[in-house]
Amino acid sequence: MTQVKPGRASSRYVAAMTGTGEHGPGGALDPWDWWRGTSELWRWGERVREIWLDDLADDATRSATRQRRIAGLLGHARENSAFYRTHYRHLPSGCADLRACPPVTRSQLMANFDGWVTDPQLRRRELEAFVRDPSRVAEPWLGKYAVWTSSGTTGVPGIYVQDPDALAVYAALLTTRFEFGPMVADPWQMPGASARMALVAATGGHFAGVVWWERQCRLHPLLAAHTRVFSILQPLDTLVAQLNDWQPAFVGSYPTMLALLAHEQCEGRLKIRPRAVWSGGEALTAADRVAIADGFACPVVEDYGASECMQIAFGCRHGRLHLNDDWVVLEPVDEDGDPVPPGQPSRTVLLTNLANRVQPVIRYDLGDSVTVDTTPCPCGQRRPSVRVQGRRDDVLVLDGAGGADVRLLPLAIETVIEEEAGVHRFQLIQTSRNALCLRVDAPGARQRAVACRRAARALARFLKAQGVGAVELKLDDCPPQVNPVSGKLRRVRASAASG
Ligand SMILES: [Zn+2]
Repeated sequence: MTQVKPGRASSRYVAAMTGTGEHGPGGALDPWDWWRGTSELWRWGERVREIWLDDLADDATRSATRQRRIAGLLGHARENSAFYRTHYRHLPSGCADLRACPPVTRSQLMANFDGWVTDPQLRRRELEAFVRDPSRVAEPWLGKYAVWTSSGTTGVPGIYVQDPDALAVYAALLTTRFEFGPMVADPWQMPGASARMALVAATGGHFAGVVWWERQCRLHPLLAAHTRVFSILQPLDTLVAQLNDWQPAFVGSYPTMLALLAHEQCEGRLKIRPRAVWSGGEALTAADRVAIADGFACPVVEDYGASECMQIAFGCRHGRLHLNDDWVVLEPVDEDGDPVPPGQPSRTVLLTNLANRVQPVIRYDLGDSVTVDTTPCPCGQRRPSVRVQGRRDDVLVLDGAGGADVRLLPLAIETVIEEEAGVHRFQLIQTSRNALCLRVDAPGARQRAVACRRAARALARFLKAQGVGAVELKLDDCPPQVNPVSGKLRRVRASAASG
């Protein structure tokens, strides 16, 4: 799994996140931002036109468009990426058969980063320094690229670079394909000029969601004036007070967070009237969808994306996620890498992003288990839909210092341990009500002990700030355990038995 984890935007957003200052990037518009905004608008318009044409096309034309894009990407990768040139050395030249291409993993690509990217000016070492600085979130790298990071569950942090064309494709897919359902008469009014937006997100790093939002805000000052980012790392009552103050018409967050907020709304503590909420970054369960839609009395818009490709699938009014299969190839496979037919859950899925040329993602092992559904959807969309399984960890419920329940989001816990302790491969298990067990992976006993202590300190600070009462935190010498059935590492688990 790769979570698209929105995070803190630049330092200009700190005041907004704490709810104490001006919202949006503010200040004078950089002429270069204006120029980029104008040129992006042109690219966006061109991509919207292509998407509409594809939506109207017959199946044979769609298939030909996709095959042309696959051939173009493979040719480009072999010509301009040293990594792919070597990786595909056994393939005949001009090969356009995706299935013939050996898959890739994040570890492989990150280990060969400078040879993977197709722009020789991109260097892993320089990008690592860039993403360590939270004040530079959404700053265009080399004047044109968007850069974000992701940890996923493999423990190997990823750095993703998106070129202007890919960004235009994501923006065009976002604006053309989403359905708000029958509860909204005119979806175009939704993000209208006066509508306030709230992104409730993990903070503290260059995560895709917030890089995306702040980038849009830099390019479009009107949007910036109506957008605020709120941190999921703060106590829930603080967040509720900030949202009551901001009164957003549109709220974007993770389903676990939205479910918590819907509960607060039902209890009367949260008093907002959003016209729509956007759910992403984790799997949205049917129960959460109902709870969120009922709690806010508005439609829930869902998408399926990853740091490797922001727009893999879009939600329709019937709760299905339809593939953007004109720009994405998603191949569900079993443990041997063989294709899994529609209707059956896969072990993992191979992702090919047809939009981004600067860092080609071709048959990339994404780690998600998906089930493809090719049966007709009542919405009329001909594109197949996918169900994504197990793409989330557990919400932990602990006793608060005052006796009330404190709910902790898995993404908040993961962000704290990753960003504050620099530990990526870990596992936190709730063994009883206020007892937690922490496992950390690091080479060598000494390094593991140091990483474990760092993670425990960051976690203790976080628990205290959330108002959690006394907690027994046990450090376990055993490394994190992957689920023997799925082969995946679930980093935050509500019990030792849940796998
Ligand atoms: Zn549908």
